[in-house]
Amino acid sequence: MGLLSNLFGGGDGNASSTTGGGGNQHSDVKIHPQVDNGVKPGSSNFPGGKLTCHCTSDPVVVEVSAQSAHNHVCGCTKCWKPDGAVFSQIAVVGRDHVKVLEHEEKLEVVDPSAAIQRHACKACGVHMFGRIEDTNHPFHGLDFVHTELSDQSGWSGAEFAAFCSSIIESGVDPSRMDGIRARLSELGLTPYDCLSPPLMDAIATHVAKQKGVLA
Ligand SMILES: [Zn+2]
Ligand SMILES: [Zn+2]
Repeated sequence: MGLLSNLFGGGDGNASSTTGGGGNQHSDVKIHPQVDNGVKPGSSNFPGGKLTCHCTSDPVVVEVSAQSAHNHVCGCTKCWKPDGAVFSQIAVVGRDHVKVLEHEEKLEVVDPSAAIQRHACKACGVHMFGRIEDTNHPFHGLDFVHTELSDQSGWSGAEFAAFCSSIIESGVDPSRMDGIRARLSELGLTPYDCLSPPLMDAIATHVAKQKGVLA
């Protein structure tokens, strides 16, 4: 999970060096504020921090007491994204490290029928954490969080782009996809139309073990 951080280690936040020349040809294409100026690698030994919703009074505050993992930008229509962003940015962290500190009464689950229960602030709409309650789900035990809701720096940087084609479902013109995928690639965020191969492999392994075809 630290692969891209290692590639960019010691860098200046400019991720373009891996693409072999002319790495910023598509910098006019906006993806998400956290990556548009280059992906910042996370800090080693980063202990986590606090996430705060967008309410100007009585905000919901959630403590995440661990470094995030598998941070990525996501094109699906379910993840919360800031105004104007084409992608969301989302990471995982063990659920034992996620705790609501303030104003839990403002949280509600966006869609109780969804596999990921996204706990959002009723007042500002920001998703504070997504939790999987189904113990048979491959990602049970991991919560999904948006580290941009924290003012601490050092969170793990985005590593790839998931569900890219789904941005069309949010109204992005299909003719923009080549430019968007090119921009993602020059940022070092390999574009996938599902999750990344390691995460897809983890899901398939879980299913195979449940079926008994793998020990
Ligand atoms: Zn709020
Ligand atoms: Zn998503």
